[in-house]
Amino acid sequence: MHETSYVSRLQERVDTLGKIGRDPSGGITRPFGTEAEREARRWFLDEAHRAQLDVSTDSFGNIWALYPGHHPEILAVGSHLDTVTNGGAYDGALGVILGLESIQTLRERDYRPQYTLAVVALSGEEPNSFRLSTIGSRLLTGMLSFKDVAETQNDQGLLLSEALELANAPTGNHKELGVSRLRGFIEPHIEQGDRLQEQGFPLAVVTTITGIVRHSMTLVGEQNHAGTTACEKRRDAVQTFAATMELFQRLRAQFAGEVRGTVGYVNVFPNSVNIVPSRVEFIVEWRSPVESVLHFAAETFWTQVQTHVHEMGLKVSRKVILSQNPVAMDPDIQILLHQGIAAYYPQHPSLVSWAGHDAAHLAKRVPSGMLFIRSNGKSHCPDESCDFSDMAMALRVLTTVLTRWDQSQSI
Ligand SMILES: [Zn+2]
Repeated sequence: MHETSYVSRLQERVDTLGKIGRDPSGGITRPFGTEAEREARRWFLDEAHRAQLDVSTDSFGNIWALYPGHHPEILAVGSHLDTVTNGGAYDGALGVILGLESIQTLRERDYRPQYTLAVVALSGEEPNSFRLSTIGSRLLTGMLSFKDVAETQNDQGLLLSEALELANAPTGNHKELGVSRLRGFIEPHIEQGDRLQEQGFPLAVVTTITGIVRHSMTLVGEQNHAGTTACEKRRDAVQTFAATMELFQRLRAQFAGEVRGTVGYVNVFPNSVNIVPSRVEFIVEWRSPVESVLHFAAETFWTQVQTHVHEMGLKVSRKVILSQNPVAMDPDIQILLHQGIAAYYPQHPSLVSWAGHDAAHLAKRVPSGMLFIRSNGKSHCPDESCDFSDMAMALRVLTTVLTRWDQSQSI
C-alpha cells in the first residue's frame, strides 16, 4: 500500500468518527455512557477487526487492539473516543485514529514487532454524567478503585458498573490486559492551545503535564434587607468576593507564564435582587507545570483571602477538591519523539501540556509520553480543528517512532 493510501484512510477515519454524536449545533456530543459513545466504540472495534488486530475490551471499558509481537508485553499508543458535550472532532479521537493507523500501517508493511503493539481507546476521559473523568486510565493504573466507583450512579440512575457492561466490558477480573503487561504508552493529541500555530510547527514533544489544584471556598457574610441596611453596616459576601478577585488577578499576574488561574464556578446566596447576599461559594483552579509554584500560588491566595475577608468582618472556609501534581513525561520517550520529528523539522518545540490527559495517570505506572499536533487554538467546542497535512505528518512520525521504540527495548 502506497503512503498516499494510508493518508487517505486516515482522513476517511477522521471524517467518519467525526459524524458519530454530531449534535444539532454542529458539535460532537459523545460523553461516556451515551449511545453515541457506544456507537463510536462499535465503529472502532470494527475498524480494528478489519485491520486484523486482536481486539478486546477490559473490565474498565478500555478497548485494546493488539498486533502481537514476539513478547506479550505491550507498547501502547492511543487516547480517548469520548468527547465533552458539544465538543470537537479531534480531541482524543485523533490520538486513537493515529494509533490505529500507525500500527495497521506497520502490519501491512510486514513489520514484525519484538513487543506487542497496541492501540488503546481509554474509557471516559472527559467529564460525564457519572461525574468521573479519566475513568479508564485511573482504573487501569489503580489510581481509582473499581470497588469504590462501581455503584456510582449517573443522572438516570444507571450504575457505572452497568454502563461498563453496556460498553461490552467483561465483568470480573480481566487480568490479561492489566497494567502489568504494559511497557509504555504514547498519547498523540491535538495541542488544543495556539502555541504551535504561533511558532509555525506542526508537532511538538510534551515535557510535562500540568499540575492542577482546585479549592472550593465559601465566604459567609450576613443576609439583610437591601434598602434598610446602611451600606457601611453590611457584611456583603458579593462585595467581599469581588475584592478577592482583584487579589486573585494581581497574584496571577506575578507568576506570569508559570501559572494559570481560573475562577469559573461561582454561586451566590440567596441570589436575589433585594437582599444583601449572605454567602458566595466559588472554586479557584490553579495550574502549573512546576510543583512548588503550583502550591505556592494556591496557598498564597488562600492566605490573602483569609486576611482580607477577616478585615471585612466576614468568614471564609476552604475545601481542597483536587490536588494533582505536575507529571513529567518519560525522558527516553521524549528523545524518541524528538528524533522522529527532527527528520522533518530539526528545530521543533517542546511544550508543557496545560490540559490534563490520560497520559498523566499512565505515567505514574509506566514510561509515558505525548506527541502534540498543531490545532487551531480552539478546543472543547465545535470550532476545534486540525489541518489534514499536520495529521499526516503526525502519522509519518508516529510510525517511525513506534518501530524505534519497539527496537530500542532491551529484552
Ligand atoms: Zn483529550
